[in-house]
Amino acid sequence: MSRLYLLATFALGLAVAAGSAVPSKTFTLDPETIAKSFRPFLDSVDVRWDKDYFYAESNSMPDHRMMVGIRAWNQQVPIPQPYSGDNAFRLPLRARFADSPVSGKETLFRGAIAVAVNGIPIFNPIKQDGRTDTNLAGELDEFGGHAGRADDYHYHLAPVHLAERGGQGLPVAWALDGFPIYSYREADGSSAEDLDWLNGHTGPDGMYHYHATREYPYLNGGFRGSVELRNGEVAIQPRARGVRPYTRPLRGATITGFEVRDASNYRLQYELGEKTHSIQYSLQTEGGAEFVFIDGEGRATTEVYEPRSGRGGGPGNRRREPRGGGRAGTPRADGRRGPDPNDPNRRPWLIVHFQELDANGDGDLSHAELSADVESTFAGYDRDGNGELTRDEYENGRSRTALAGFVRQHAVEIDRSNDSKLSKDEVVEVAERMFRRADRNADGKVDTEESQAP
Ligand SMILES: [Zn+2]
Ligand SMILES: [Zn+2]
Repeated sequence: MSRLYLLATFALGLAVAAGSAVPSKTFTLDPETIAKSFRPFLDSVDVRWDKDYFYAESNSMPDHRMMVGIRAWNQQVPIPQPYSGDNAFRLPLRARFADSPVSGKETLFRGAIAVAVNGIPIFNPIKQDGRTDTNLAGELDEFGGHAGRADDYHYHLAPVHLAERGGQGLPVAWALDGFPIYSYREADGSSAEDLDWLNGHTGPDGMYHYHATREYPYLNGGFRGSVELRNGEVAIQPRARGVRPYTRPLRGATITGFEVRDASNYRLQYELGEKTHSIQYSLQTEGGAEFVFIDGEGRATTEVYEPRSGRGGGPGNRRREPRGGGRAGTPRADGRRGPDPNDPNRRPWLIVHFQELDANGDGDLSHAELSADVESTFAGYDRDGNGELTRDEYENGRSRTALAGFVRQHAVEIDRSNDSKLSKDEVVEVAERMFRRADRNADGKVDTEESQAP
């Protein structure tokens, strides 16, 4: 980069700082100023910088209570993460307006979009499915966070609770495009006005910044600044590392307690079916972990995970040992995780055939896809094309749809009018009933998560 260019950038930055109308697209950030916002949390966050970037390191375990209040839980728990060295958070020291800002409604559904000043990553409030607002779905704890698939704790909201603990008027987080995120108010305590669609605006100092809001987008709703994206996420950001394969949602559970016993021993408590359950887990120095699951009857089952091999390796290998009143010989770890997904007899038909029914393979089953399957089922069976299936038609006909076998097997139940013929309405009624049962949040689609629900 030429010296002339640097000077030009600097001059533009000055012009804006002086309140000039000259539009600047580059903002030079002072690393000391960024460091100041992390300072109240420096017992758990390390910061450093070079001429281009500011880095923050943490293990992603905040000093506040975690997980309590979550009522839509995927059975993950927080474990420390290696967000340090070349796996640290990185902020550009020269933030630059993007030619076309990125919207968090369209992408950024994976990975962090910001880092809180206590070193916790912040993800898009909309989760991986590109649709679900984690806050409205009850997935977040009292601080707006939860543990992800690698048992990595992160926020999905702006950490406004840090505003009281941090210095007066300091940001509560930094977006990964380099712009600061303030709480609901301005640094001087006045209310934040005229926010753009990304929850940002340019302050009196000429610096662009974002704000927290109580409703979506809650924080930076994307990036006003330029960021390098890869596969729909910020390319350079810390990677979480799990110790076990990821777990599935546990319907009906509410997390009621979390305790850090010491740096490597934790206990999470939840209510399910009016009974108290808990998970006690401890981390071994070599990278392995032991999880003890205690069910509502006080029965304990233990899962031990071997240390991960090498950096960035997959989850550890699992070894199970029933302990105490544990159920030796049970194929599942703890008996609470719902039916074995590979046992078709124990899962609803529509879920078992989800992939076939999801004709466009986008991970959602829509009413349209279901009725298309009904139509092709009829097209295959209904030889005389009169819109009704006789027993001869469905028993001896050929139809290769997902519903074809179901219709043949369940003809008696489908035939509500008892006329020994199956009308399209009768088939649709049964199919729709199964659909409604699987569509737990009643949004008119059976999504991937619902298709995996126990
Ligand atoms: Zn999350
Ligand atoms: Zn502001």
